[in-house]
Formats: sequence, structure tokens, C-alpha cells
Amino acid sequence: MATKTVTVGILALQGNFAEHAALLAAMSVQVQYVRTVQDLEQCTHLIIPGGESTTISLLLASTGLDAAITDRCRASTLSVMGICAGAILVATKITGKNPPASLGLIDITIDRNAYGNQLESFDASLIVSHVDRPVRASFIRAPVITHVGKDVEVLAMHGEHPVIVRAGNVWALTCHPELRDEESIHRLFIAS
Ligand code: GLN
Repeated sequence: MATKTVTVGILALQGNFAEHAALLAAMSVQVQYVRTVQDLEQCTHLIIPGGESTTISLLLASTGLDAAITDRCRASTLSVMGICAGAILVATKITGKNPPASLGLIDITIDRNAYGNQLESFDASLIVSHVDRPVRASFIRAPVITHVGKDVEVLAMHGEHPVIVRAGNVWALTCHPELRDEESIHRLFIAS
């Protein structure tokens, strides 16, 4: 059987991109830091990490990566996983104070900083579809997904909120599995 060639890009403009690189290195997955449109070219997958969504959004616009990502994603030549700030950036609708410009890639509404401030960050163990054991993840000044469109699959909930969702080639996570050395979600994403 032919194996699919996968190159996983990690957007490395701001935020915790290094933890994703360390996790993927431990999984022996080849990664490419993405800082320019050229860096994105050979990528089949892109992780948009957590960080500060307003800052990342401004840097996406100034590098032209915003248009490059949306074009490739709409052409289905790129899969994208947005984590926390990244989830905010891929959502079609952002609520809360000072919403950044979004890439509008997945039909969800997300409320920025809705869990409260840094002190209200927490760890959780999640039941995730397609994973046969509990998944560890941290929520850090996390946003809350308040609405999902009809074509969005909810893979995990925490309380009454969806926390891992997917529609086709776009994934959004409001939690950080990479901060708990949790490989399962990255594995699912790369296999998709
Ligand atoms: N609170 C941040 C924002 O709104 C996201 C936090 C995170 O990425 N862990 O941009």
C-alpha cells in the first residue's frame, strides 16, 4: 500500500509552537516551522498553536499567510488544527472582548477567554471519539465553543461544552494535549 507523504507545519509566529515540535519529534513525525508563505508550500498539515490570538492574527495578515492558509484549506490541499488561540482563529464567529480577525475555516462560534483568567486554567481528562482511553489536556485561558454548525463533528465535550471538534480538514481544540505529552489527538489529525 502506498504511504501518504505527510509534512506537518507548525505556525511559529508566536505562542507555544515549540511544545508541538517536541511532541511530534517524539512521535518521529517530520515537522516544518511555518513563518512565511514559502514555508507552507510543502506542508500537508498545519498546526496553529495556542498563544495570543490578536498577535497571531496580525502576524498572519502581515506575512500573507492568512490568504495562503484559507486558499489551501478551501482547495482541500491542507488540513488545519487550531489549538486554543488557534481555535479562535479558525472559527467563523468570535465573540468576547476585542475579537481578532478570523480565518473563518470552521462553522463554530467561539467565546474568547470565556473560562476566565489565567488562574482559572485547569487540567482535565477527556473522553474522545476514536480514542480508546482517556485523553489528558490542559485548558489555559481557554475559549468556549458556544455553537457548532450542522456539519461539525464533536469529538469531545467538557461539561456542556464541545472542546474538540472537526469539520472535514479543519479541527479546533480549546485545550492543549501537547502540554500533557498526549499524542493521540495529533495522531488522529495527521492520519486524517
Ligand atoms: N486567551 C488566549 C487568546 O484569546 C488564548 C489562550 C491560549 O491559546 N492558551 O488569544
